[in-house]
Amino acid sequence: MPDDDLVFLAYADLSGHVRGRAVPGRRYPTTVGWVPADQSITPFGSLGDMNPFGPLGDLRLIPDESAHVRVDRPGTSAFDVVLCDAVEPDGQPFGACPRAALRGAIDRLAEQHRLEVKAAFEHEFTMLPSPSSPDSPSAPLPAFSLQAQRAAEPFGSDVVRALVAAGLEPENWLAEFGPGQFEITVGPAGALRAADRASLVREIVRDVARVHQRSVTFSPLVDPDGVGNGVHVHLSLHTGNGKPVTHDRHDPDGLSRQARAFFSGIVRHLPALVAFTAPSAISYLRLTPHRWSAAFTAAGLRNREATLRICPGATPAGWNVEFRAADATACPHLVLAALIHAGCQGLDENLDELRLLPGDPNAMSAEALAALGAARLPTSLPEALDAFGEDNVARRWFDPLLIETYLEMKHTELTELAGLSDAERVARYCEVF
Ligand code: GLU
Ligand code: MG
Repeated sequence: MPDDDLVFLAYADLSGHVRGRAVPGRRYPTTVGWVPADQSITPFGSLGDMNPFGPLGDLRLIPDESAHVRVDRPGTSAFDVVLCDAVEPDGQPFGACPRAALRGAIDRLAEQHRLEVKAAFEHEFTMLPSPSSPDSPSAPLPAFSLQAQRAAEPFGSDVVRALVAAGLEPENWLAEFGPGQFEITVGPAGALRAADRASLVREIVRDVARVHQRSVTFSPLVDPDGVGNGVHVHLSLHTGNGKPVTHDRHDPDGLSRQARAFFSGIVRHLPALVAFTAPSAISYLRLTPHRWSAAFTAAGLRNREATLRICPGATPAGWNVEFRAADATACPHLVLAALIHAGCQGLDENLDELRLLPGDPNAMSAEALAALGAARLPTSLPEALDAFGEDNVARRWFDPLLIETYLEMKHTELTELAGLSDAERVARYCEVF
């Protein structure tokens, strides 16, 4: 790296933000200092009085060179960012580190079931109107259209070029359904790499927008009644030597025994795990019927109203299952950690509980849904946090320090929003995500 360019040592924290500090390339260190209470800062920047750390303690951030990306772009300084793990001063893992939590889940799946997850994240976001900008159309352009895609050029090409340069393997760029809404997808990778990619995709899109003097937001909603910005996570199972094992052509739903158990575990623990995958006060305005997001604890074949959408592949290796109840207010490392632990639980108990929705769940009676074991997902963040608190299995997924820190931070976040209307809450999240 050039001597005087800044390298940002980044920490993808519990709040869903990437925080950290920069050093000049010539002083690129093996570690830098960090503050435990960072993990208690809400997405809006406040620190609750009851956080477990207060002013005490020190941490070290250890750069992971395999998560170091550099993008040189004209008109701005290099985007040079390395994701880090947080450790205690004696080198022991920090209990509240999301990357350590994900490593723990990955190890559990490998040690207990000799399996690995590959994951690919799709991100939707909204480019906010900018009347002063010549490339900002005055009225929404047709969804998915070439017109809408071209109207945003050269922003889209710059995003894709930057992602290629960062090695994040962009796959699709499209103008999505909502006004000003876009989607970027990147290729599958091992779980840690996939979560790293998700953190970096968001920051690279924001950085390209900054250079184009445009504002983008990954907030789950930009209007309480409008189209949602989802994060969809495609998951597939593989043996330790890379053989895909999600699909079995003899199964009526096309799923292997391991996949049935893994995804049964996810469905069983959905009420608890959305506390980590859809963790904002407005996430639950998006997770409502008829939005093609997810409203029920159910799976379905090629079904965009199901929380788990089974996506058949053209080849056995292409089969995967898409988790649709996530958004970009979540830390991607926690999202995958929670999903993998829930899946592992299904494998531990050899569950076989997947009963696929026969069609649109909104067209089904309450009795028909109940017969499939499908219930409404939590309808608010407090409900999801309570569901996590009541799930004795899910509470064992994470270090007690991470749980204490996370719950306190989320309660502070909810307190900050008390008394605001839905529209005001949405506006707050749009500003910071
Ligand atoms: N925007 C929808 C969501 O909130 C997803 C639409 C799609 O299927 O891509 O999740
Ligand atoms: Mg989409």
